[in-house]
Amino acid sequence: MPRFNPAESLASMRHEFGEHGGVNMSIEASTTFTVMQAGTMPEIFRGQRGPDQGGCYLYGRHFNPTVYVLGRQVAALEGAEAGYATASGLGAISSTILQLAGHGDHVVADRTLYGGTFALLRDFLPLKSGISTTFVDGKDLAAVESAITARTRMIYAESVSNPTLRVADVPALAAIAKRHGIPLVIDNTFMPMALSPIQMGADIVVHSLTKFMNGASDIIGGAVVGSTAFISSMMDLHTGTLMLLGPTMDPRAAFEVSLRLPHLGLRMAEHGRRALILAMRLAERGLPVSYPGLPSHPDHALLEGLRHPDYGHGGLITLDLGTQQRAERLMETLQNEERFGYMAVSLGYFDTLMSCSAASTSSELAAEDLRRAGISPGLVRISVGLTGSLEQRWEQLARALAKI
Ligand SMILES: *Cc1c(COP(=O)(O)O)cnc(C)c1O
Repeated sequence: MPRFNPAESLASMRHEFGEHGGVNMSIEASTTFTVMQAGTMPEIFRGQRGPDQGGCYLYGRHFNPTVYVLGRQVAALEGAEAGYATASGLGAISSTILQLAGHGDHVVADRTLYGGTFALLRDFLPLKSGISTTFVDGKDLAAVESAITARTRMIYAESVSNPTLRVADVPALAAIAKRHGIPLVIDNTFMPMALSPIQMGADIVVHSLTKFMNGASDIIGGAVVGSTAFISSMMDLHTGTLMLLGPTMDPRAAFEVSLRLPHLGLRMAEHGRRALILAMRLAERGLPVSYPGLPSHPDHALLEGLRHPDYGHGGLITLDLGTQQRAERLMETLQNEERFGYMAVSLGYFDTLMSCSAASTSSELAAEDLRRAGISPGLVRISVGLTGSLEQRWEQLARALAKI
């Protein structure tokens, strides 16, 4: 089978022209839609008319053509049948989980997840909906399989975990999911284009479009892609989470994000190129750097077998400074003296962003969870930017390391 190419898949999508023949699509800024015959309205409500049945739309929370185009573009990038965009990554994640699981159901999830997803599964869902989660080490396939019960409705993992940068063995997880007749859900926020989980057997992929997809840290957004049947179920008027929980993306935001996707591949390749060189130089100095592009990384071989070669090994590296105090000194020096980047959460920005994970984006985890997830208190996560020159950035980093 020829290797799936996300750029070709996106480029072969039907182009969406603007209303007046513009090269960019128009923004459909209406919340409600007219019909020409009164009889069409009940047909829409019965689901007999819709985006793929001759147009005729209902209401902006249910469906917006501009948001739909963005959803289809993300689906094309992932090689999925269908997709829809949401107001945030967590909107996509919570809607997906609640679509698949109900009261008394169960989730098997990797222990190392984005802090918000972890809190949703560990704290919020048991409290509000009686959905429980068993957290396992996603690298321990036997543990994943033995955690599955008759009530398990999905296996949930991140393609590359945050902030430990472990790479999920998606084909192996997909085989387990298939054996038990449950879907595998993968959060691919860290690795758009570089990894294509659907092509490896995952059933559903969720994204935060806030990060690399967007690239400018100016819009919060999310997306979910999967089978047409699954995405349609999320839009069902009576039981669909996208319809009824209302994680609706504004069409103006969808338009903006859509304009960033054509250069996503260029950006991923450059984030990855710079991250690899910085990681190699840090490793040469004997510093405790972790990056899946380094042969010393425990998942290097796995990633080499799974990734698309054009888009690098991801834009994130971690450096363990031992203590939170040293981590904070390094980040302050890098930001305030060297202008290397910014102390801020999030990732995928065109400039470099740095955060101390244990004290920020993973602070939802208790000390014991942090230890088990392998997140040291001095771990600095660096989302390597694209600005300035690589040599300038390396000099800034080396100088800051010498100062602290
Ligand atoms: C940021 C992030 C999320 C949440 O996305 P939002 O757009 O902030 O809601 C989920 N998963 C991962 C891996 C993330 O980095």
